Amino acid sequence: QQQQQASPSPFADHIALRDVNVSIQAGESVAIMGPSGSGKSTLLHCLAGILKPTSGQVLYQGTALSSRSDTERTKLRRSDFGFVFQSGQLLPELSALANVALPLMLNGQSFGEATAIAAKWLNACGLAGLFDRRPGELSGGQSQRVALARALVIQPSIVFADEPTGALDQQTGHMVMDMLTDATQQNHCALVVVTHDIHVAQYCSRILTMQDGQIIEEQTL
Ligand code: ATP
Ligand code: MG
Repeated sequence: QQQQQASPSPFADHIALRDVNVSIQAGESVAIMGPSGSGKSTLLHCLAGILKPTSGQVLYQGTALSSRSDTERTKLRRSDFGFVFQSGQLLPELSALANVALPLMLNGQSFGEATAIAAKWLNACGLAGLFDRRPGELSGGQSQRVALARALVIQPSIVFADEPTGALDQQTGHMVMDMLTDATQQNHCALVVVTHDIHVAQYCSRILTMQDGQIIEEQTL
């Protein structure tokens, strides 16, 4: 469960979020839509503990993220939260396999264990045969599938995705969303997707619409 209450701006004099109250259940999928600058990414970053709201709090499994130390929060993000961004999230010098194995190694698994599990996830994301490619040698859709494998490899309880299809054509975007929603559902993992595309939002069971830092509409599909 993830909850956030009244969270004004982390940014100097600008109010990025105002009176936002969101509750995300285990295994649930939620889309966040709204115009550019409405606070979608800021909300996602607060939910994920990347940004600390200047007031209000985010509860994860009943405990406030702010009551944990920086080290504990980092550890939690590495073990429980998966992240997918629009692009540019893979380390360019590492192979696809190493990119996906890295989060497991940061969590203390051995190189052997980590690469074996990473290979399983790359295969599940339809990337057999591309393990040794670096991100620069992959198409946009292939890169995003590596990013999905990297987000899912730790078996997170929630995946945060900020415009995961924003740099893809429609067909590739749908393939990535099919994979993301199938994998999260199968693993009882919650999903929060920020998107400008209603067709992407419709993969989720709930759509929140933001405007000027507030949630102005909530729609259950
Ligand atoms: P987009 O669809 O363009 O990605 P968004 O809905 O994700 O927009 P946010 O990035 O959350 O919007 O930004 C919300 C508001 O906070 C905007 O007015 C933005 O200018 C401001 N903002 C975002 N990041 C910062 C920052 N690091 N410092 C100051 N202001 C910021
Ligand atoms: Mg954004």
